[in-house]
Amino acid sequence: MSYTFLETPIEYLKGVGPKRAEVLKKEAAVFNFHDLLTYYPFRYIDKSKLYLVKDIKSDAAYVQLQGEIREVQMIGGGRAKRMTAYLCDPSGRIELVWFKGFKWLKGKFKPGITYTVFGKPSVFNNKFNIAHPEVEEAENTQSTFNEKFQAVYSTTEKLKSIGLGSKGFNKIFRNLITSSKQNIPENLSRQIIDQYKFLSREESLREIHFPTSPNTLSKAQARLKFEELFFIQLKLLKQKYIRTQKVKGHKFPLVGNYFNRFYKEHLPFELTNDQKKVIKEIRGDLGKGTQMNRLLQGDVGSGKTLVALMSMLLALDNGFQACFMAPTEILANQHYDTFSRMLGGLGVKIQLLTGSSKANIRKEIHKELEEGSLEILIGTHALTEENVRFKKLGLVVIDEQHRFGVAQRAKLWKKNVIPPHVLVMTATPIPRTLAMTLYGDLDISVIRELPPGRKPIKTYHYYDTNRLKIFGFIRNEIKKGRQIYIVYPLIKESAKLDLNDLMDGYESIVREFPAPKYQISIVHGQMKTENKDYEMNTFVKGESQILVATTVIEVGVDVPNASVMLIENAERFGLSQLHQLRGRVGRGADQSYCLLISKHKLSNEARTRLQTMVETNDGFKIAEVDLKLRGPGEMEGTRQSGLVNLKLADLTRDEKILKAARQNAISVLELDPSLRNNHYQKMSNYLNFTNKHLKNWERIS
Ligand code: ADP
Ligand code: MG
Repeated sequence: MSYTFLETPIEYLKGVGPKRAEVLKKEAAVFNFHDLLTYYPFRYIDKSKLYLVKDIKSDAAYVQLQGEIREVQMIGGGRAKRMTAYLCDPSGRIELVWFKGFKWLKGKFKPGITYTVFGKPSVFNNKFNIAHPEVEEAENTQSTFNEKFQAVYSTTEKLKSIGLGSKGFNKIFRNLITSSKQNIPENLSRQIIDQYKFLSREESLREIHFPTSPNTLSKAQARLKFEELFFIQLKLLKQKYIRTQKVKGHKFPLVGNYFNRFYKEHLPFELTNDQKKVIKEIRGDLGKGTQMNRLLQGDVGSGKTLVALMSMLLALDNGFQACFMAPTEILANQHYDTFSRMLGGLGVKIQLLTGSSKANIRKEIHKELEEGSLEILIGTHALTEENVRFKKLGLVVIDEQHRFGVAQRAKLWKKNVIPPHVLVMTATPIPRTLAMTLYGDLDISVIRELPPGRKPIKTYHYYDTNRLKIFGFIRNEIKKGRQIYIVYPLIKESAKLDLNDLMDGYESIVREFPAPKYQISIVHGQMKTENKDYEMNTFVKGESQILVATTVIEVGVDVPNASVMLIENAERFGLSQLHQLRGRVGRGADQSYCLLISKHKLSNEARTRLQTMVETNDGFKIAEVDLKLRGPGEMEGTRQSGLVNLKLADLTRDEKILKAARQNAISVLELDPSLRNNHYQKMSNYLNFTNKHLKNWERIS
């Protein structure tokens, strides 16, 4: 069976035609029959159940009722004119209301007849009513399950204007399903279908649009979810197989002078077990002769920087250069300082390149890079510029990778004929399901353990009415010699307003903590870099006790003496942001605190966020909650990827299916990476078909 039918342009479907096709393409990205078949319903109207009036408890779901219709009345005049009636069943009565179309309805309802009424209750004057219900005589009420259980499709104003509301969709689906018989090729292997007792693809697609029973519907859903996740994994993993088999990588067999001397003489502390484990994993990758593509996940403060540094030394030991890219200048500076300090005496040639590097330094850097005498280059995205050319780039480290676009990262990739090894690091833990989808083609290392001696940060949530008490607490911490962060939200759309908030806050803090006893620094996005750096450095050096800032301090800034992170308007921050901010403290040996200040009135979601922060310090748990609250498409770092725009599967709920899908994809590729075997013909055909038609498939690394 071929894909000719599924490839048929949508205008050729009975009931569509060129005009509707135009709108379907634009509004729903439906170009051909296959696109329409996988335009899945987002829910079903369940007409299989009958409710009693007294059981209507919420306005969340549609209900179907049966009873007599009484007291039909016209009320009001002009635009407020409406018709009302009561549906009466043995348990009570509910008002029905029509704002139009009543001319035709009036006199239609006869006494003594039982009607079936279907609609969505809403609350009016503290009572439920149903506006514009569907009504029919109970005798005529459709009886097959198929007709009682109706698919609902998402639609838009434009689609509705051409008759493609949910009902209109139902009609064209009926035409499509009728003509698709024997025309939908299977895409999974017999073995997988038997193993999970899946319905065939054709059956599943029919069921999902026109269910015949709740049981078969859920079987169809399970199969189609599996299929969706399976082919994503198959694609990702296939890329990985190709990379490891076809793309050559530098081989770093040596553990040499730099690495060994650093380890023996320069390491200021014992590595944690997790750090050791990850370094071992990386050494394994670098020795293989294939390109490393590894994601290192570790909570803030877990010591990723050191792992990166030691990996770079391995590159140097093997005669290669390395570079390290950070998302902001502040961070690049800080890393440059840390690396220079830690490497002091080893004789490693290291430099910093950012947007504000002076022309003469730039020139020198360019020259030394091309000669190969410069061994480590730290910087911002300035590293990706065309004229930054390495003699022998062996390893690229990208810190806080989610801050960079895919294209920026790809540029670093291309800085050699043989691509450098790539280590991307993130302190925004990604839930496993998401990581498997988003980074399915990368190897993943995780640091879960924090360096020893850290006291868990204590987190409290206060309402803004408690501010005086909090100031008292801060005064006390400062007396003990500690430093304080105070952070205000900054959201791009209202940068001005936020800046006002920040300046107001700053002034009240200056009043509360007057000079000369207290010194206060301030940093925000609209400041010139040199002023920002000056203020930042004052705080880093301990010359000011309080740093008032917007989220520019979110990533990476390291001031071990800071013990309090106070976050104003905490309800306006996302969970991962709050967690990142909290990670700025708790870096020294002292007890640290995170104080979340919010207004009294909070949405449920905001309350859950704040509660989660108070309850746990575990970034992975927080990421799970975040995923549940926001869904995969909104998680940090996922927005640029089409990978998580799933049509049916749900990464928060379908973890089991995802694991099975991934496992099966691995098994298939292990046996037959190019899918040439007859068993995999169907998969391979489908893969070719989707590759031909999918456009938004992006590489992550
Ligand atoms: P992150 O993973 O957030 O990038 P860093 O690498 O900045 O974390 O490390 C946080 C702090 O912990 C740094 O001050 C670093 O020097 C320190 N650190 C890293 N590894 C260890 C260790 N094994 N023992 C003690 N302190 C460590
Ligand atoms: Mg870091």
